Amino acid sequence: MLNIVIFGAPGSGKGTQSDNIIKEYNLFHISTGDVLRDNIRRGTELGETAKAYMDKGQLIPDELMISILADVLDANREAASEGVIFDGFPRTIPQAEALEAMLQERGTCISAVVGLEVPEDELIERILLRGKLTGRSDDNPETVKNRLAVYHNQTSPLQAFYQEKGLYHAIHGTGKIEDIFADIKSAIDSVK
Ligand code: ATP
Ligand code: MG
Repeated sequence: MLNIVIFGAPGSGKGTQSDNIIKEYNLFHISTGDVLRDNIRRGTELGETAKAYMDKGQLIPDELMISILADVLDANREAASEGVIFDGFPRTIPQAEALEAMLQERGTCISAVVGLEVPEDELIERILLRGKLTGRSDDNPETVKNRLAVYHNQTSPLQAFYQEKGLYHAIHGTGKIEDIFADIKSAIDSVK
């Protein structure tokens, strides 16, 4: 199995590049943001809980997020038989530790972490543009500030966490989408 974590700040291009990766490697895409937004759309209880955090730019509590991820993994065993791309998870050290345990229980492990590195001013520009184009409700100036702060405080420590394990591959996340994808492919092919 090829299990890839796509890592980076909000607006770094995780969703865009995940679409390219699943096509090339036949992986199953798990975007925790998409899972939560789908629950909000369907008006589930989980969606209601998640919306309160997302609108403030905060993270959903680890325990809840970890159990959601385990459910998605188990519900899609067949589709995920060649591997998974994890997009938006893990976002904290406890989530990373839980992911490691979950994969180990299922007889597999993380193959590589692809880190999309983009300067903060470009992140903000991209997110605000996406907010205008798609109407995504957390893509507004107020919430973005919080999301970036949360990223720096809670998520960015994962970079060192995965570097120490020799799993982290830094990718320049600016420029043409296809050029960025070419770099991602080289990184993934080097661990295949
Ligand atoms: P990108 O712009 O690259 O798509 P993002 O960080 O802006 O990334 P999502 O990944 O879609 O957006 O996540 C949106 C929100 O969903 C987060 O701000 C957070 O509230 C919640 N969320 C998503 N994944 C997690 C997670 N693993 N743990 C906690 N909360 C999460
Ligand atoms: Mg996304």
